[in-house]
Amino acid sequence: MFKVIDFIQTSRDRYLEELGRFLAIPSISALPQHAGDVRQCAGWLADEMRRIGLENVSVMETPGHPVVYGDWLHAEGAPTILFYGHYDVQPVDPVELWESPPFEATVRDGEIYARGAADDKGQVFMHLKAIEAWLSQEGRLPVNIRLLIEGEEEVGSAHLEEFVQTHRDLLQADVVVVSDSAMFDRGVPSICYSLRGLAYFQIDVRGTSTDLHSGSFGGAVVNPAMALVQILAQMKDRSGRVKIPGFYDDVRPLSDEERAAWRRLPFNEKQFQRSIGAPKLSGESGYTTLERLWARPTFEINGLLSGFTGEGAKTVIPATAMAKVSMRLVPDQDPDRIGDQFEAYVKKIAPKTVDVKVTRMHGGRPWITEYDNRFVQAAGRAIEQGFGKAPVYCREGGSIPVISTFQRELGLPAVLFGIGLPDENAHAPNERLDLGNFHNGIVASACLYDEIARAGR
Ligand SMILES: [Zn+2]
Repeated sequence: MFKVIDFIQTSRDRYLEELGRFLAIPSISALPQHAGDVRQCAGWLADEMRRIGLENVSVMETPGHPVVYGDWLHAEGAPTILFYGHYDVQPVDPVELWESPPFEATVRDGEIYARGAADDKGQVFMHLKAIEAWLSQEGRLPVNIRLLIEGEEEVGSAHLEEFVQTHRDLLQADVVVVSDSAMFDRGVPSICYSLRGLAYFQIDVRGTSTDLHSGSFGGAVVNPAMALVQILAQMKDRSGRVKIPGFYDDVRPLSDEERAAWRRLPFNEKQFQRSIGAPKLSGESGYTTLERLWARPTFEINGLLSGFTGEGAKTVIPATAMAKVSMRLVPDQDPDRIGDQFEAYVKKIAPKTVDVKVTRMHGGRPWITEYDNRFVQAAGRAIEQGFGKAPVYCREGGSIPVISTFQRELGLPAVLFGIGLPDENAHAPNERLDLGNFHNGIVASACLYDEIARAGR
């Protein structure tokens, strides 16, 4: 282990140069004109994986962009890690806002700037370098590892679920490790152990067959825009609680221990409020802002459309009204069950004077691996060795659907081992990765394999 860490500490310049080559390939999965670059990037990655000593490396076809797979499975009796990351990147527009070209990695003030630096090439590369250090210095890894690096994460992982379903044997493991997320804050390394899920709907309300003159017909028919807002107004009460019957039935309560731990986090409500320009923060009563964001479900109106919204005035009773709404879900809510409850409630409260249709758009399950899970705790010790500081344990309000895919399809716990920073502009111009975190992350990854081996099967 000492030799491994020493090797990492003396390879910093080489790591930067190599990462620069990985970042130079414009593997933008969303744009058809870059399909060749995505494929070239998969090939580059496979070559690098072979070079560092991974075995069974192959670029595997999917109906979309290929998956790159490789493994090292000689640690008999030790656990197996399934590492997930992605080599595709987001588009770069508006390109004129970049201070240096997005595909020419540039170091400024201790950060490397390029598209994909944080999301996710830099974090994938950190693991490759940790594996390289182990194999070159010790001739072995303390754990078995399988790497699954996909090329379609930025376009919704369109073919990953099918790939997982058809390659169950190839992906057998004890734990999934994902490095595609950010730490709590600069200087505050963290382990995220839960994400919220999502249930998304469209509501269409129809009153009459066409728009009507509000003078000739107003007063004799129901206005569908009014009917829709009356429906929506009954979704939440004044204390911020969602009124859909049964909505909270499966919500896992927060433990006193978790609430106490979150109160100790360096989170400044005033600063948070200022950063989003809100006159005042608001949410479900009885919960702090972090609790509302991480452990409580929500109901949101994402969009509303009806009637005349142009300049001037038009005296019209619209024929239709439409709203997009969604709910962020927490463990152990189920998007299908929530969908049934929502539809039944809309049906019950909708005025009989209009036709109401609810369409289910998409959904994703919430995810949690208990923070006292032995692999989560092993990751915590690895972060401490890499960053010289114990991590905080936190959740996140967003969703990473692939993690629930692994949980559902393979029954595996997952560890979110992310070293990005919340302000590193993933998906935006001037994406960057802090080089201190990158180097500490390589050490932490090398330690992670050792800690997971110790945590046992
Ligand atoms: Zn990503």
